[in-house]
Amino acid sequence: SSSPLAYRRVLLKLSGEALMGDEDYGIDPKVIGRLADEVIEAQKAGAEVGLVIGGGNIFRGAGLAAGGMDRVTGDQMGMLATVINALAMQDALEKRGARARVMSAIKINDVCEDYIRRRAIRHMEKGRIAIFAAGVGSPFFTTDSGAALRGIEIGADLLLKATKVDGVYDADPKKVPGAKRYDRLTYDEVISQGLEVMDTAAFALARDSDLPLRIFDMSQPGVLLRILRGEAIGTLVQG
Ligand code: UDP
Repeated sequence: SSSPLAYRRVLLKLSGEALMGDEDYGIDPKVIGRLADEVIEAQKAGAEVGLVIGGGNIFRGAGLAAGGMDRVTGDQMGMLATVINALAMQDALEKRGARARVMSAIKINDVCEDYIRRRAIRHMEKGRIAIFAAGVGSPFFTTDSGAALRGIEIGADLLLKATKVDGVYDADPKKVPGAKRYDRLTYDEVISQGLEVMDTAAFALARDSDLPLRIFDMSQPGVLLRILRGEAIGTLVQG
């Protein structure tokens, strides 16, 4: 169908683990290709799409620190991991005929562009998929914070967080039979009920700027476009 989009510009956050497929490390080309197809479908339908990709399939600073490494160095390795994933996604998008630009929060400009807000918006207006790498560019943050920050900066109408679970539940649905999924929540309900949606810093950023979030499972083909057309898939969090 060609129903109009409910959102003009969105920021989609994918975890690094989403790229692994059934592997336990790295990137599965089939999986990243399928995700790229989804993003291209949304972009072709008229959405301006910014992407943030995590690095947890390669390195996480906290995990490296638990193994004895300096935390800041570990986080820098984690940020570089997100650049690797972003480059892989850029390649997958381009191989499928889309245009994409990786923009990094840390300067690594033989490999990709530096993040410059006005340039990022221009890319998206021209139909290029902007891929924001290296989170916020500082240690002790996550790519969830990067997604919230870039979402706010580029004026996204919605932050989409793809997870393995199809929304926010009152208990872990894998452990608690009969756990209830919320269709909608306010920011205050998330805080008062201690629900896990994003890390605290990321959530605070989104809440302070009234950026609505939708938490959903992206494993079903076509789901991204359906959300952009206004279907209530997953859990919506807003003020
Ligand atoms: N990271 C960081 N600052 C940021 C974003 C990421 O230091 O602004 C580091 C941090 O070590 C993090 C790792 O990069 O663990 C990978 O990002 P994240 O854990 O958010 O990836 P995901 O869980 O989404 O795959």
